[in-house]
Amino acid sequence: MRPEMSDVIVIGAGIVGASCALRLQQDGWQVSLIDAGSPGCGVTAAGMGHLVALDETDQELQLCLFSLRLWREFLTSHPGVGEHSACGTLWVAENEAQLKEAQHRAERLSQHGWHADALNGEQLRRLEPALRKGLCGGVRVSGDSVVYPPLIAHHMVQDLEKRGGKLLAGQKVAAIGEGCVVLSNGHRLHARHIVVAAGMGVADLLPEIAVFGRKGHLAITDRYPGTLSHQIVSMNYGQAAVSADALAVAANVQPRPSGQWLLGSCRQDQQADTAIDPHALGAVLQAAMALLPCLAEMRVIRAWAGMRPASPDGQPIIGPHPWRAGVWLAAGHEGLGVTTAMATAVLLADQIAGRHSDLNGEAYLPSRFFPSREVHYA
Ligand SMILES: Cc1cc2nc3c(=O)[nH]c(=O)nc-3n(C[C@H](O)[C@H](O)[C@H](O)COP(=O)(O)OP(=O)(O)OC[C@H]3O[C@@H](n4cnc5c(N)ncnc54)[C@H](O)[C@@H]3O)c2cc1C
Repeated sequence: MRPEMSDVIVIGAGIVGASCALRLQQDGWQVSLIDAGSPGCGVTAAGMGHLVALDETDQELQLCLFSLRLWREFLTSHPGVGEHSACGTLWVAENEAQLKEAQHRAERLSQHGWHADALNGEQLRRLEPALRKGLCGGVRVSGDSVVYPPLIAHHMVQDLEKRGGKLLAGQKVAAIGEGCVVLSNGHRLHARHIVVAAGMGVADLLPEIAVFGRKGHLAITDRYPGTLSHQIVSMNYGQAAVSADALAVAANVQPRPSGQWLLGSCRQDQQADTAIDPHALGAVLQAAMALLPCLAEMRVIRAWAGMRPASPDGQPIIGPHPWRAGVWLAAGHEGLGVTTAMATAVLLADQIAGRHSDLNGEAYLPSRFFPSREVHYA
């Protein structure tokens, strides 16, 4: 093999690319992982790291649960890695309609073997005394948890290197050729398979794959240890698309192991950059305070925004490029990229190896965005 030749090149060392690279190296491929910056420096460093069983559709729930079980194995075999906290999720219902939906959620998750308890208002307040009085109830999902994603990505890359894989940090891929990538310094690297896991960078490398940014704001408080035990999420939280420049906000508050509270979240489309929008940030803080009034007395020390890499139908894009032979995609995970990174890695590694997967990944194939007449297999 030429020195610049690998079996697989993975572009992007975010949580998705790092998971794929490690899984492929474990499968026996010689993997080179390339990142324009450093592992976990993209949107992986800007999100909440909530490992959550979302169930807006059956398909979404199956993907989440498949991945969450892989996360459980990973975190059990890597104790102490990535600031893991088994805090669970407390979904909060503010009205009777949400309470009904909360009860359905508890049944649905439990039926799938993911333990969830429906709660009335009193039980909710006993679990989290900081919640405001008068809430209707909710669901406690004890198997959900929280990690600090950039630390996990970093750890995965170290593991990759220990197993003989290579990291090329600070190297931007300018173009993808046939069986090769061209770095911005003009250098070419060759591989049989090229996995594009470049987050928001996918749109530059493969303009035909319509990944776009869905902006979200977060803020973090000073340290208040012992004041919150669960990740608190409003029942009106969802990944639903938002129209043009509209703003979708739902309270989402995470206790960090440091005692800080991480406050989110919102969704905005068609935003040019990650500059803080005071109106959006204000709406996020208001929504959080509406559930947890003590926030009014707490100090927020930092705020930022990140772009969730989203696909047109809200599902991740995992699998072979429809017409570029040897090019594979692991992209468009929107607000669930941390949760579903493990499942993505398994699906992709199975596809590359030509193996059967325990999860049906048909719904995530890139070919769904291309009418058959436009598909040109090489
Ligand atoms: C506010 C917010 C809250 C979120 N909360 C959660 C949550 O609680 N749970 C959850 O599961 N998900 C959450 N997410 C979503 C999650 O963070 C993303 O889906 C996930 O991090 C995407 O990972 P990635 O590896 O695809 O992208 P990235 O982390 O962006 O990684 C892509 C990498 O590719 C590199 N790259 C790009 N272009 C090139 C190029 N040309 N050459 C070389 N390298 C390149 C970049 O440097 C980057 O490191 C949240 C996101 C936001 C914004």
